[in-house]
Order: sequence, then structure tokens, then C-alpha cells
Amino acid sequence: MTLKSKIQVKNTIVELDGDEMTRIMWAMTKDKLLIPYLDMETDYYDLHIKHRDDTDDQVTKDAAAAIQKHGVGVKCATITATQDRVKEYELKQETKSPNGTIRAILDGTVFRAPIMVKNIIPANRNWKRPIHIGRHAYGDVYANQEIRVSGPGRTELTYIPDDNSETVTKVIHQFNGPGIIQGIHNTDASIRSFAAACFAYGYDRKVDVWFSAKDTISKTYDTNFKKIFDDEYDINWKSKYDEAKLTYFYTLIDDVVARIMKTEGGILWACKNYDGDVMSDMLASAYGSLALMTSVLVSPQGYFMYEAAPGTVQRHYYKHLQGEKTSTNPMAIIFAWTGCLKKRGELDGTLGVSDFAAKLEESALETIEGGTMTGDLVKISTQGESAQAVFMEDFFDAIKERLDSKL
Ligand code: NAP
Ligand code: MG
Repeated sequence: MTLKSKIQVKNTIVELDGDEMTRIMWAMTKDKLLIPYLDMETDYYDLHIKHRDDTDDQVTKDAAAAIQKHGVGVKCATITATQDRVKEYELKQETKSPNGTIRAILDGTVFRAPIMVKNIIPANRNWKRPIHIGRHAYGDVYANQEIRVSGPGRTELTYIPDDNSETVTKVIHQFNGPGIIQGIHNTDASIRSFAAACFAYGYDRKVDVWFSAKDTISKTYDTNFKKIFDDEYDINWKSKYDEAKLTYFYTLIDDVVARIMKTEGGILWACKNYDGDVMSDMLASAYGSLALMTSVLVSPQGYFMYEAAPGTVQRHYYKHLQGEKTSTNPMAIIFAWTGCLKKRGELDGTLGVSDFAAKLEESALETIEGGTMTGDLVKISTQGESAQAVFMEDFFDAIKERLDSKL
């Protein structure tokens, strides 16, 4: 294609670069599949672990603020610092998880859905359509306080109202020996926006919404989630759902775990923060691979951050550094970009951009369905020997070839 015929992306996309192998694939996605076709402006933030450390994580906060400004962002996978990483990259500190920091700023819900291809059959034969997960991205154990109880003593939970009304105190436990306690919280406002985001997503995608918690055991905390979901549904969604022949269903989390195995899919499963963390990885693996998962953070104010859900593929990166070619799967990164472009196109009213993103997705899916895929997928593909494990670069080139033939 010539420069002249590039597709114009009208408004700015916030770009959050990341670490290790996903950083390599990020650059390759742009160089091979985006920049040759799109005239787009990105507001770039480098979330490389060293740069986050150098800026005392200010770059992460700035990136989140930029998403609030421009509305749409796309994020590469990033290293969450550990003591090993502090040594490896000679960091000043163990900076917080950037995903956690961004989610705390934008609030909102993370929606994940498997990317399905014909030649990779989910481990559960019943699943014919995607099961989407809506993970509440605020509070609970991710914003907790913990105390190591060193020996005998009383532990309490206390609420001191600002209006000087009576303090509320409950004894957590009277310890006879060492132990642990934890304090977690959530806010009605965040839960309400979580519920609203889930109902909006279900309605948009035309899938039923299931919400699960453990209100039989957690009679205040989880019951509050359930009640807010019920209210939000009754007030704002019931008539729309009835009209669209969609349903909302609440049941206990263990009940959903059992039922989800028997469904055909085509459901949004709304999960509390921790449940969503765990269940999304279970679903990703059962649908095929963590590398075949899309993920988007939707904030209550209507900001969207599309992200590459899996990790930075550290092992492949070390091979790459030694000059070895790897067969790393870039699907989650490609789909983070296409998701972001589709949303940008939708918000800007630029059909050409959405159409380009759809064609890029088709090209990637058809490449895999045509038997050209990365090593992780060959292992689980129904094509067995006839599927071809190619190096990452060659996989990109195969997608590009299909894309060129569509444009
Ligand atoms: P990982 O990136 O999930 O990779 C674990 C293993 O899974 C790989 O060694 C590889 O198996 C396979 N794998 C994962 N993604 C693959 C892909 N795209 N293509 C092919 N194979 C893939 O986990 P990790 O390497 O242990 O984690 C590295 C870092 O990721 C950590 O520092 C963590 O903080 C970060 N992380 C970031 C995010 C995020 O930002 N979204 C999420 C999770 C973790 P084989 O080696 O057997 O081929
Ligand atoms: Mg997780």
C-alpha cells in the first residue's frame, strides 16, 4: 500500500508499552500490521519496568490519566516487580502492579473472552460459544490491609463515622497464639458501576448475565453485592433484557462453577475481584490458551483500556536475548490493538477503522484455522501433525499476507 491510502484514525489512542517478549511482539504488531496501514496518533507511555522505577511509577499514573483524557487505550503486558526483578533490573523499589494501579485509578470492570478458532476445541466439549468473564477490578483482597498477629490478643474491626455518630466495633478474633487478620473493603458506588458495566456489556453482546457470590456465608459483604446487582437490574435493565430475550441470574459461586460446565457458553459471568482473577485463568486454559484471551477494562465513566491478558513470557524472552528464534503467540496483543481500534472507530464514527480492525482479526483467525500457528497452539490443535508450528515472525508475516489480500 502507498502512504496515500492509509486509513485515518481520527482521535488519539493511548499506548502503554510493556516488558520482555510482549514488548518485542508489541513492536512487531505495530511495524508489520498497523503502521503500514494506519495513519494514527498515539499518546505513548513506556511502562518498561526500568522506566516505571525511574519515574517512581509516575509514568503509570500519567498513562491512566491520559486514558481518562482520550477515552481509549491499549496496554502491553508488564512485569510486576518482585525481589528477583529488583535484582535483575537493579530497581530502587518493588513498584506496585501497574494493572492494579491503573484499575484503582480508572475503577471499572475487566471483561475477558476467549478467542475461538475452529481447530482448537475447548477442553469442555459442551462449550460452543465464548464464556465472557466480567471481573470487578476494585477493592477486596487487592486493596487490603493485613496484620501478622504475633501472639495472644484481641483483634477488632472498627468503623468511625465522620459525622461523629457512634463508632461500630466487632471483635474479629480473640487470639490465644500467633495468627493473621485481613481487612478488605468495597464501596457501593464501585459495586454499582460494576453491575451497570456488566449489564451494559451483556446487552451490547447479547449474552445472558450470571452473577455469583457467597451471600449465604457473607451476610453483609456479599449480600450487599447481590442487592446492588438486583437493584441495578430492576431499575435500569429488566425491561431491556426482557425485550431482548436476555436473562439475569444470580446464584452462589459454587453453583455457577458447577453449572458453567454444562452450558454451551454465550454467557457473561460477573465475578468479584478475586473470583474473576482465578476463574478467568481457568476458562482461558480450558478454552485453549491464555494467549487466546481478549481483555478490556471498562470504567464507569466510559473509558476503555484494551490489554494483553497473559504475562510477559519471560522464558521466551531470555531465549530471544540469546539470539534464538521463538514461537511465541502474539494473538492477545493483536486483539488488544484490534479491540482498541474498533472502539476508537465506533466512538469517532470512522467505519474504515473498525472495518480494518475486523479484517485484521479475520486474517489472524484464518491463519490459525489454515494450520499456521505458534507452538503453544499446535500442541492443542485438532489438526495434529498437519498443523505447522512457525516462528513468531513468520506467523506475523502469514497474517500480513492474508490482511493484504483483504484490503
Ligand atoms: P507467562 O508470561 O504467563 O508465561 C508462562 C508460560 O506460558 C511461558 O513460559 C510459555 O510456556 C507459556 N506462554 C505464555 N504466554 C505465551 C505466549 N504468548 N506464547 C507462547 N507461550 C506462552 O508467565 P511468566 O513468564 O512466568 O510471567 C512473566 C511476567 O509476566 C511476570 O513478571 C508477571 O509479573 C507478568 N505478568 C503480567 C501480566 C500483565 O501485565 N497482563 C499478567 C500476568 C503476568 P513455555 O515456556 O512452556 O513455552
Ligand atoms: Mg490472575
